[in-house]
Formats: sequence, C-alpha cells, structure tokens
Amino acid sequence: MFIAKEIQTAAYLFASILFILSLGGLSSQESAKRGVFYGIIGMIVAIIATVLGQGVAGHVYIISAIAVASIIGLLLARKVEMTAMPQLVAILHSFVGLAAVLVGFGSYLDPKSHELTGAAHMIHLVEVFIGIFIGAITFTGSIVAWGKLDGKVPSKPWSFKGLQTMNLLLMLACTGLGILFCQAEGTGGMLYLGIMTAIASFIGVVLVMAIGGGDMPVVVSMLNSYSGWAAAAAGFMLGNDLLIVTGALVGSSGAILSMHMCHAMNRSFFSVIFASGSGNGSGGEKKAIEGEVTALNHEEVAGLLKEAKSIVIVPGYGMAVAKAQYPIYDMVQFLRKAGKNVRFAIHPVAGRLPGHMNVLLAEANVPYDIVMEMDEINGDMPDTDVVMVIGANDVVNPSAQDDPASSIYGMPVIEAWKAEKVIIMKRSMSAGYSGEDNPLFYKPNSEMLYGDAKDSVEKIMGFLKA
Ligand code: NDP
Repeated sequence: MFIAKEIQTAAYLFASILFILSLGGLSSQESAKRGVFYGIIGMIVAIIATVLGQGVAGHVYIISAIAVASIIGLLLARKVEMTAMPQLVAILHSFVGLAAVLVGFGSYLDPKSHELTGAAHMIHLVEVFIGIFIGAITFTGSIVAWGKLDGKVPSKPWSFKGLQTMNLLLMLACTGLGILFCQAEGTGGMLYLGIMTAIASFIGVVLVMAIGGGDMPVVVSMLNSYSGWAAAAAGFMLGNDLLIVTGALVGSSGAILSMHMCHAMNRSFFSVIFASGSGNGSGGEKKAIEGEVTALNHEEVAGLLKEAKSIVIVPGYGMAVAKAQYPIYDMVQFLRKAGKNVRFAIHPVAGRLPGHMNVLLAEANVPYDIVMEMDEINGDMPDTDVVMVIGANDVVNPSAQDDPASSIYGMPVIEAWKAEKVIIMKRSMSAGYSGEDNPLFYKPNSEMLYGDAKDSVEKIMGFLKA
C-alpha cells in the first residue's frame, strides 16, 4: 500500500511542525516532557509517511529492521544511567554520521543518479562529497567523544605544535580531491571519495582528541550540530525534504547551544571548532600547588553546619554518581528549619549534561528559589560561612582564574574559596574531569571530607539530628 505524494508532503509538514514544537518544549524544564512527546509523535508520523511513500520497496526488511532497532533502543534507554547519558548521545551522533557516509556512497553508486546531467549532476556530486565529508568527521569525532566521556580515552587534551597547520593542509587536500571527484566520469570518482573519507575520519579523531575534558560540553553540542548537518546532507542526496528540515533544525539548534556553552565557559567558538588548542591556557609549566590538605570527620562537619548562618552547596558530577540529591535536600530542609540561609550554587557545566544539576535537584523537589546560577551567587561568597562542595571539582578550581598554564584557564568558576570555610566532599584527592589538580583542596580554609557523597550526607544528617 502506498500513499499519494501530496499526503506524504502534508505528513512531512505536520512532522516538521511537531519537531519545531518539540525543540520549543525542550527549552524549559516544565515543558520538556511535552517537547519529548511532540518529538516522538513527529518521528512516528515521519517514519510511516516515508515507509509508505511511492516507490519504496522491501517493506518486510524495513519493518523488521525498525522492530529490531526499536527493541535495542528501548532496552538501552531503560538500562542507561543518567550519568551515562552523554556517552549515549555521543554514540548516537556517530550513527548519524555513519548513516550519512553510507547514504553518500550508496547515492553515488546508484545508477539513477548517473542519469542526471549538467548542473543537476554537478549539484548531486557536491552533495555526495560534502555529505560524506561531514558524516565521516561526525562519525569518528563522536566515537572519540564517547571514549572520552566513558573514561576509555584520557580526557586530557592531546595536541602538538603544528596541529592547526596539519588540519588546514588536510582540509585543502580534501578540497582538491573534491575538484577531481566532480570531474571524474561515471563512478570513476570512487578513489577520490575513498581517500577523502579516510582523511575526514582522521580529522574527526584529531579535532576531538585535541579538546580537553573541561571543553567537552562544547564538543558534545558541536557534534550534535554536525550530526544535524550530516542528516540534512543525506536529505539532499535522497531528495527527502523532511530529512533536510530536521537536519537543519538539529544543526542550527546545536550550533546555538554550542555558542551559549562557549559563552558560559568564556571560550571562543572558532578556537573550539578548529581545535586550536584546548581552552585559553598558554600551556607551559603549571603553578606549583602550595599548602597542606586537612580533613574533617562527619561529626565535625555537622558541628560547623550547626554554627553556620549562611551555607552554600555546590553540587557536581559526584553528586549525580552517588545519587545524593535526596539526602542532600533532607539535610537542606533540616538546616532551613533551624533558621539557616541555605542555597545551591549551580555552574553551567557542572555534571556531564547541560542543566544536569538543575534536573537532579528538581527530581528531589528542591524549590527553584534556592537554586542560584553561578553569576548570581559568586558575589555572596565572602559573606558565606560554609560552602559544601559535594562531588564537584573542575567547577570550583581556582586555577581557572590564576594559572594561565591550566587547560581550564579562563573558564568562569564558582569562587568557593572566598567563603569562611569550604568543605570538599569526595572520595579521594583525584583530579576533576579536565585532568587538572585542584589547589582549592590545599587552601587554609578548606577541609576534605572523604567518602561517597550520599553516605557522607546521611552520616552528617545523623549527627545534626543528634
Ligand atoms: P568533575 O568531573 O570535575 O569532578 C567530579 C568529582 O566528583 C570527581 O573529582 C570525583 O572525585 C567526585 N566523585 C565521583 N563520584 C563520587 C561519589 N560517589 N561521591 C563523592 N564524590 C564523587 O565534576 P564537575 O561537576 O565539577 O565538573 C564537570 C566537568 O565535566 C567539567 O570539566 C565540564 O566541562 C565537564 N563536562 C560537562 C558536561 C556538561 O554538559 N555539563 C559535558 C561533558 C563534560 P573522587 O573520585 O575523588 O570521588
């Protein structure tokens, strides 16, 4: 059974509207669920309209593939931990890149595409070349991003002198190959296409390898944007309007998100895109860390909290790992009832997802009015009695302000060290995601409280109640 072309066009238009509503819904926590729902309906409409479109053959294979893929997707989505979400997103981006590469090769080898003549043929060749180029960079770049986020590839930036020149030369080589490819007769351009795919795959690897852990949020949103453009390119090759619209939506919204991320992290968009060294750091010798590390026990921390009037909690990735948001909010309620001013300070890139901490705190029903953005609360730090840094590290690292050799130099951070007392709750002295050591732990007003964040908060609560 096939549907008429007009019905398919109407269905595509409807799906496009749903995708736009979906993006709109995802812009705030209250409407996010509705946004996801619009997206699901839009995708179902898009798939049905495409599968039932004129000239589509092999329905049994297509439906079987969709069924198997849906089961795998469902199982994976049910199993994945919130903290492993970025890895999942990165690997899904790689699938989009790979799909664009395969569609490109398929489209080039398709005898029908060689029936095109003149400008139409040239445009098709350019679409194929650019589609495969973006797709290959997205594919390998996303795999490296997955490795970095999953801890399989070191998060420290891997770079060398001349990296940018090498990237520029490789880009020029691809441009030359593109010209030769467009001049080749029949399928004679396969060799050029193959070499370009290998070069683009290599560029994808070095682009992401050169970026340090601290800048990974920008990379993830950038790869999201690339995957959108790769999908749009595949849409052009397949002559599918919906894929073009959807790809452009993902591509442009990903680019806007990357720009916001760069702004929040005081990074230049272009230096991250072209991997011109990670961050604003000058490289070279890092500042030696001075001071001694001292630690407290749970009872002593409870004593400090009892005496404090104003308390700020800085949550980070470790809070998400420990799922400590629930006992933390119990403790906050207890302290607030005792008349203390307790607030949360949220860094824009804390955790591993944009808005990660806000989502976790909302999950634990923490009221929005005590959840402050970094810029809102930094000015209050000198008047704060106790800052509790719970499972955070990079987002409170003073090197970002005073060590030009640090890879996170220039990134705005929460100025926890300006408070009277800082309690850092984590399991060990290990570095943050950027791989940078944290001089905050050695400051005279800092005290470590070792252990799992949830376990520690529950123990402190026991002493507070006692
Ligand atoms: P970090 O990753 O810098 O540090 C988290 C700390 O949590 C670790 O040092 C770890 O120390 C501690 N920790 C881990 N598990 C536990 C636990 N069970 N209990 C207590 N502590 C624990 O986190 P931040 O949130 O400070 O910074 C986020 C970093 O991730 C930034 O560099 C950011 O750029 C990057 N990033 C952010 C993304 C985003 O979109 N938000 C995306 C990708 C990367 P220990 O092992 O000693 O316990």
